Amino acid sequence: MSAPTLTRPQARAGTDLPIVVAGGGSRGLAAAEALLDAGRSVVVVEAADAVGGLARSVELWGLPHSLAAPGVPGSAAAGVPAQWLDLAGGHVERTAAHRATVRGGRPTGPARPAGRLARSAARLAGAPALAGRHDVLSPVAGTGALWAELARRLRARGAVLLLGATAVGLQVQDGRVRGLCVRDAAGEHVVAARAVVDALPAHRRLLAPGAVAVARSLDTHLVHLLVDAPDGAPVGPPAHEVTVEDPSLRTRRLTAARAWRPRALAGPAGAVLRAELRTAAGDEVATLDDAALRDLVVAELPALGVTRPVRVLEHAVVHLPASAPVPGAALTEVPGALPVGLVRAEDGPVPGAGDGLPAGRAAAALLPLPVR
Ligand SMILES: Cc1cc2nc3c(=O)[nH]c(=O)nc-3n(C[C@H](O)[C@H](O)[C@H](O)COP(=O)(O)OP(=O)(O)OC[C@H]3O[C@@H](n4cnc5c(N)ncnc54)[C@H](O)[C@@H]3O)c2cc1C
Repeated sequence: MSAPTLTRPQARAGTDLPIVVAGGGSRGLAAAEALLDAGRSVVVVEAADAVGGLARSVELWGLPHSLAAPGVPGSAAAGVPAQWLDLAGGHVERTAAHRATVRGGRPTGPARPAGRLARSAARLAGAPALAGRHDVLSPVAGTGALWAELARRLRARGAVLLLGATAVGLQVQDGRVRGLCVRDAAGEHVVAARAVVDALPAHRRLLAPGAVAVARSLDTHLVHLLVDAPDGAPVGPPAHEVTVEDPSLRTRRLTAARAWRPRALAGPAGAVLRAELRTAAGDEVATLDDAALRDLVVAELPALGVTRPVRVLEHAVVHLPASAPVPGAALTEVPGALPVGLVRAEDGPVPGAGDGLPAGRAAAALLPLPVR
């Protein structure tokens, strides 16, 4: 990398320097919030033109669909539903969600509750507790809206969010982080930093100097099918979400979007089914075009528990390259070799930031995902 220039409003001397968070996904934003709570100045560097990472939503057929799971995790720490409800402005749908598993080509076992959220969330929502129900809260506007709202609040509190800015490495001097090297539309420069929080995807690691390490990863393909039944009867799998543990099938998970948010997604057309496939480099399925992926999923629907014949009205495939780590291919590093002032978002305290700030404190709690 050519010698970058030192920049910008953040390039001030001494302890006034911000803590720079690389990555504006759920972990990065949660880390930024924790740092603001601790009174630090914060800059978030996000490569995409929107925050949220894999927890964002996409607009399909005029409605927001969450990429990852749509609801509050059943394992949520106390206070998470309240935070969710607050970020969602109270606009959530509550469903008694169920999951099933496919083994040996057909759904097995009784559908089971998706989470343990239930009563505390209902109380926080100001609604009567639903005794014995296992509910999941899903934001009506999609999970992406929560991260957009959190980003808005972070900005209002003084955080700087640089979108369309890719972290390309660290600037390190005398064993200590001095800044984050960033490439954006204006070229390459260094955002001077008191410390850097690495909240890049799990298979990427910021390294010093001037490099990002990348482990092998899998691509995710989300095949959305807008379907109805020829006879107008309800269409869907036997549960909100069907997890597939059958190596003869390519679909790893099938979700019924309208089952999670029946009011938000109510409309004239039938159901929206979403099949999740993962591919590695060289995998034949990775070469299929969207129409072929649709056909592959449609052929698997009966084995996934969709026993009624369906008519596919439209399809939309969302490709998420390098979105999942290859099991066992995680990046390893020697903690002692890390420069002072660098922390991974999930690691805990930010060494070198002054007083060991809990960078990732809120991260896990904010993840809008159910436990598998
Ligand atoms: C279909 C699907 C279903 C899932 N289901 C579940 C589930 O049920 N349970 C569960 O726990 N998890 C699930 N996940 C995973 C979950 O969504 C992610 O683990 C979580 O969103 C990760 O958040 P993150 O902030 O760590 O990373 P990401 O969401 O990947 O965010 C990282 C951010 O860093 C940005 N970035 C990348 N490189 C750079 C760079 N060089 N410079 C600057 N910015 C960069 C990206 O644009 C992104 O915004 C699912 C994911 C998908 C896609």
